[in-house]
Amino acid sequence: MSCRYMAAVSSSLLRRSITLSPFNPLKPPNSIRLIQSSFQLPVRQCPRRAMSRVGATHDEEAAARAAATEADSGAPTIFDKIISKEIPSSIVYEDDKVLAFHDINPQAPVHVLVIPKLRDGLTELGKAEPRHEDILGHLLHASKIVAEKEGIVDGFRVVINSGASACQSVYHLHLHVLGGRQLKWPPG
Ligand code: 5GP
Repeated sequence: MSCRYMAAVSSSLLRRSITLSPFNPLKPPNSIRLIQSSFQLPVRQCPRRAMSRVGATHDEEAAARAAATEADSGAPTIFDKIISKEIPSSIVYEDDKVLAFHDINPQAPVHVLVIPKLRDGLTELGKAEPRHEDILGHLLHASKIVAEKEGIVDGFRVVINSGASACQSVYHLHLHVLGGRQLKWPPG
């Protein structure tokens, strides 16, 4: 069995952990249920929620590629509605520049997204320019504050998926802050 196959299977199982894992049992927390019941996302913007079989990784990749085709259109994303509070989210931290909220499809006991309130061309990290240095540093520091607030500052991971081949699905830069369990390396 190849490493690539193993990685694909592990990745898919990880993404399905909302129903399988001990930290995220059949009943998700109230905050998550509230968000899930409040609105529906187009699959294009949240492909991981549609995963229901091991081979679905291919669907996720296809959805990520589809999302990437509109990345530079300037169209608002679901995160704009979260920033404007049009769509509810479970906020962990907020200041004038960034917003941090629990991911709707957590991949670990703690899974928080940290986003800039102003996208300013930062659809993905791959579009970063020198003018973005301040906000990029601010986002990293905010991630540490989030880790403290969530009680995982002793061990956590910050992930940025940039572009379709990294399976980015929302084109508004975001940092995933993950922790609360033993994280494995390398990631899938
Ligand atoms: P990406 O795949 O682009 O790196 O990560 C996007 C993340 O946004 C995913 O982990 C997905 O679960 C999360 N997400 C997508 N839509 C929503 C939403 O409406 N609310 C919340 N809280 N998270 C979302």
